[in-house]
Amino acid sequence: GRLVGATAEGEELAAEAALRPKDLAEFVGQPKVREQLDLVLRAARARGGTADHVLLSGAPGLGKTTLSMIIAAEMGAPIRITSGPAIQHAGDLAAILSSLAEGEVLFLDEIHRMSRPAEEMLYMAMEDFRVDVIVGKGPGATAIPLELPPFTLVGATTRAGLLPPPLRDRFGFTGHMEFYAPTELERVIHRSARLLDVTVSDGGAAEIAGRSRGTPRIANRLLRRVRDYAQVRGDGVVTEEAAARALTVFEVDDRGLDRLDRSVLEALLKLFGGGPVGLSTLAVAVGEERETVEEVAEPFLVREGLLARTPRGRVATPAAWAHLGLTPPPGTPV
Ligand code: ADP
Repeated sequence: GRLVGATAEGEELAAEAALRPKDLAEFVGQPKVREQLDLVLRAARARGGTADHVLLSGAPGLGKTTLSMIIAAEMGAPIRITSGPAIQHAGDLAAILSSLAEGEVLFLDEIHRMSRPAEEMLYMAMEDFRVDVIVGKGPGATAIPLELPPFTLVGATTRAGLLPPPLRDRFGFTGHMEFYAPTELERVIHRSARLLDVTVSDGGAAEIAGRSRGTPRIANRLLRRVRDYAQVRGDGVVTEEAAARALTVFEVDDRGLDRLDRSVLEALLKLFGGGPVGLSTLAVAVGEERETVEEVAEPFLVREGLLARTPRGRVATPAAWAHLGLTPPPGTPV
């Protein structure tokens, strides 16, 4: 994980799996999506049928994978998990679709990153539960129709707007996942602490929640690091003070900015006087890839009102100067 140093990817995944809520009642927050899904699933169960296709949109770590597993569990159906980038060719998708069991849930993460031919195959599969498998090449190529069992596609994307309308329109229901309020994250943290067998005070949970960027995945990850700290340097109890100290050690500040976010902001302020500066220049200055700065650091900085993307380049806001305790040079446009 990038937030807190050298945690192995495998350990990270196992830790996440252990903390996943198993049903809708256990799923914290997202009251709208929860109520809507509850209706969709109850109705499908009452009809004895398969649930309509579901699109979930929202930032990474908000619970899209978890919800897809809950959909399968609530429908008493098996689940297959894959992602858009993992499907290179239409044939890959045909192989998956033709091996689905009746009523199975197919979770397609990052569905907006699927290849065009696979996407077109998916249209027909979603609507008619049928695919045309193309055999041969050129003028001799023939399309062999293949019937599929009814299944439920759960697609996940960071923004529903990234999907071509024909694909978006084939989902019967779209759930928009919001960032979590601090009190919701506190509930996530208390729940995870019980599962991890760690004692967390209300103050400790609040301290972690405030630095978790509205994201349960981050809240759970920070909780595990604070637990480590409390275990090694304290009596194992996660108090407000232990949480604050631990997160200082792991370079997550009181607003949830980590080392990368701060170095981007610092470069923008100290080297470029608050901007405007081009993305590439900023990336070179912090020694990171363009994409890392643009896709990992910036969305949160923009959301926090610390950085603005303008046609002339990246610009720091007055709040950025204040957050780093710096004074903007005279004449800085505000
Ligand atoms: P996404 O698929 O949107 O990236 P995940 O479903 O993988 O997010 O969730 C990341 C982690 O956060 C999981 O470990 C999960 O247990 C936890 N989590 C997400 N949403 C919730 C929630 N509403 N309540 C409790 N835990 C959650």
